[in-house]
Amino acid sequence: MIGVPRGQPPPDVDAIVVALKSRTSPPAEAIEESLAALQWLRDAGCERFYFKYCSTFDSTDEGNIGPVTSALMTALGTRFTIACPAFPENQRTIFKGYLFVGDVLLSESGMRNHPLTPMADSNLVRVLQRQTRRKVGLVTHDAVAGGPDAILERFSALQQQGFEIAIVDATSNQDLSYLGAACANLRLVTAGSGLALGLAPNFRPAAAQAAASALPEVGGLRAVIAGSCSTATQGQVAFALERGVPGFRVDPGRLAAGEDVVKGALDWAAPLLPRGPVLVYATAAPEAVKAIQARLGVEQAGQLVENALAAGARGLVRLGARQLIVAGGETSGAVVSALGITGLRIGPQIDPGVPWTTSLDDAPLALALKSGNFGTRDFFLKSWAVLR
Ligand code: ADP
Repeated sequence: MIGVPRGQPPPDVDAIVVALKSRTSPPAEAIEESLAALQWLRDAGCERFYFKYCSTFDSTDEGNIGPVTSALMTALGTRFTIACPAFPENQRTIFKGYLFVGDVLLSESGMRNHPLTPMADSNLVRVLQRQTRRKVGLVTHDAVAGGPDAILERFSALQQQGFEIAIVDATSNQDLSYLGAACANLRLVTAGSGLALGLAPNFRPAAAQAAASALPEVGGLRAVIAGSCSTATQGQVAFALERGVPGFRVDPGRLAAGEDVVKGALDWAAPLLPRGPVLVYATAAPEAVKAIQARLGVEQAGQLVENALAAGARGLVRLGARQLIVAGGETSGAVVSALGITGLRIGPQIDPGVPWTTSLDDAPLALALKSGNFGTRDFFLKSWAVLR
């Protein structure tokens, strides 16, 4: 569900995700929205809760991971939970409480220069402790590698010492699987999306999980909209263009000059769409992005491009596109909102962290919403086959 839902939940689901855009909101706002989502989920009959955040633990010194975790604990009356952003398949690992991105510490990765949530400290115990009054401890890798019982022993030792939240080391899917089993009785866990891998088997046997990812069939034409300038998306755009996917570049300079770039893109796309996927992209190299940001302001430039891509997505759907790949987190938010989508059914995985979804409508659209840095180089070409 996109935003705090209203009304009844879909009837035939085992798990519901509420997507909030609360990463950089003022903490009080993030708490309020999160508690509203929690209440709706409890009313819907949910019993176990997962507060999901970015695998790079993006946050400011004030929050919002600590404040939201703490508020959820109070609301649920739980005395202990974990915090584990590890996602080994996407090169996010935690060892001795330090978060690594690929081969380097978080604070030495690109996240050091993130415009909104720069991460200059890789020690997650310290980072989280700055955000909460609850005592933050650590479950080190030796315990995690020892399996669920060893982890549970460490949980109770920490609780006896007054710790309420534990950062947990994890460097592999095996670790997440042990940790998931150890968390079977926790009412609340907090983590990146990686831990879901270890938790699901607590609730459903593997065969049922495969059936759960079946999506309704969606016909129609195919388009890719890329508004991410992250390294992975740059490669994916270049690769798709190299392989002959027709591409239209949305130039922020022309948008700023007041040109109707969206109409240009749609006139261009109309005759091509029936022949195969088209790519509409704003993706540009860091120097180009910096130049336009210097001219327009960071937020203004982002907004201008997001609005254009969202209008482009609406136009492409009017032209018959029903299968869309969208690259970029903010971009996905803008597109989903422009299309009036309130909820998505989550389907099969394309790459770690990126599934196909279909909108909760009578005539569903298929959407793959891709975080900027996720997915292999051939993502824009290979994804369609997963939908069938
Ligand atoms: P990611 O998931 O990689 O962070 P997002 O979509 O969340 O991608 O963020 C990318 C931001 O950059 C968006 O606000 C988008 O509108 C903006 N953007 C995209 N292309 C350009 C460009 N050429 N110049 C300036 N800003 C851009």
